[in-house]
Amino acid sequence: MQEIILVKYGEMALKGLNKSTFENVLVKNIKRRIKSLGRFEITRAQSTIYIKPLEDCADVNEAAERLKKVFGIAALCKAAVCEKTFDSIKDTALDYLSDCLSYAKTFKVTAKRADKSFPMKSPEICRELGGILLSEFSHLKVDVNNPEITVTVEIRDTNAYIHAENIKGAGGLPVGTSGKAMLLLSGGIDSPVAGYMLAKRGVHISAVHYVSPPYTSERARLKVEQLCEKLTGYCGSIAFFCVPFTEIQEEIRNNCPEEFFTIIMRRLMMEIAQRICEKEECLALVTGESVGQVASQTMNAIACTDAVCKIPVFRPLIGMDKTEIIEIARKIDTFDISIQPFEDCCTVFTPRHPKVRPLLSDVENAQNNFDFSALIDKAVSETEMKIFYVES
Ligand code: ATP
Ligand code: MG
Repeated sequence: MQEIILVKYGEMALKGLNKSTFENVLVKNIKRRIKSLGRFEITRAQSTIYIKPLEDCADVNEAAERLKKVFGIAALCKAAVCEKTFDSIKDTALDYLSDCLSYAKTFKVTAKRADKSFPMKSPEICRELGGILLSEFSHLKVDVNNPEITVTVEIRDTNAYIHAENIKGAGGLPVGTSGKAMLLLSGGIDSPVAGYMLAKRGVHISAVHYVSPPYTSERARLKVEQLCEKLTGYCGSIAFFCVPFTEIQEEIRNNCPEEFFTIIMRRLMMEIAQRICEKEECLALVTGESVGQVASQTMNAIACTDAVCKIPVFRPLIGMDKTEIIEIARKIDTFDISIQPFEDCCTVFTPRHPKVRPLLSDVENAQNNFDFSALIDKAVSETEMKIFYVES
C-alpha cells in the first residue's frame, strides 16, 4: 500500500494572485522543507499537491509535521493510494484505517468524486463503504454530525485516495510571494510574533537586532538568534543583521535630554534598519509594537518614530492585547525563549520619566544636539550578518 501526502491550498488564496507563480513558490518551499527526509516526487493537479515518497526510508510522518508550518497550505492529509475500483477502495480502507477505526467509537464516510466517470455516485460510495466498515468493526456507530473519524474517499484523475484525517494547514500565502521586509527583532515576546504574521502573508523576512555590549550580554544576543532559528520553521531562511549600538546609545545619553532618550533611540534604530533595507531590497520595516503598551508606543511617540521612515512600517500587533500576542507566541513556540530574562538595549539608559506624548518638533530639537550621521554610518558598516537556514 502506498501512502502519500495531499496538500490543498484552496481557491481563496489564489484570488488576485498569479496562480502559477503562487504554486511554483509553494512547491519550492515544500521541497526545501522536506529535502532531508528522503526522496519524494512532488506533482500537482486540481489545486492539490501530491507528495509521494520514492523510497522506504522517506519519512512521511515527519514531512507532514513540517508541512503544518508552511504558509500557503490550507489543509493537508496523509492518504492511501489505490485503484479506482470499489473493491480496491474497500480493501485499502479496511487495511489503512484498521487501527484508527478500532479505537474510534463513531465515524462517517464522505466521498468526493472529481472524476465523474466513476460508476458509483458519492452517496452510493458512502453507503456501501459505511455498511462494510460497520460489519467489520462491530463496535462502531455512525454519527453524521459529530463523528470521531471521517473516512474520506477521493476519486481523482488517476487514482482513488483514502484518508481519515484532515490537518489544518498554516494558511496564508507562500513565503516569497509578497516581497521582502526587515523585522526589528528584539528578544521580547512581541517582535517574533510580528515576524510570523508578516511571513504568513507571503513576506520573506530578514531580521535586524541591536546590541549594546557591555550593557547587553552575549547571552541576550544568543537568545535572539534562537528566536530566529525557531522562526525559520515558518519564515524559511532568515538573514540576521546584528548592529553594534553602544556608541549611539552613549551619545544619546551624553547629549540629549533624558525624557527623549527612548524615542531618539527608536528613530535611530529605524534609520539604521532602512539603510540595511536599501542593500537588502526590503520594501518595509516590521515591528512588534501595539498602541499604548509602553511610553514609546503611544500614538504621539509612534508618529515621532515614523517621521524618519521613508518606507512603510508594518505593525501587525498594533491593535492586539498582550494576552492575544502571548497566545500566538505559545502556538509558534517562541514564548519560552522570549521569557528568558536577558536585557535588551531598549532597557539600557531608560529615562525615569519618558515623555508619553512627545511633540515631533521637541524630539527633533533634542536630537539636533548631536550629529549622529557618522555614527550611523559606522554602525551600518560594522553590522554583522548571519543566515539562519530552515531545518531541511
Ligand atoms: P518586544 O516584546 O518585541 O521586545 P516590547 O513590548 O518589549 O516588544 P519595545 O522594547 O518598546 O517593546 O520595542 C518595540 C519594538 O521595537 C519591538 O517589538 C521590536 O520590533 C523593536 N525592538 C526593540 N528592541 C530591539 C532590539 N534590541 N533590536 C531590534 N529591534 C528591537
Ligand atoms: Mg522589548
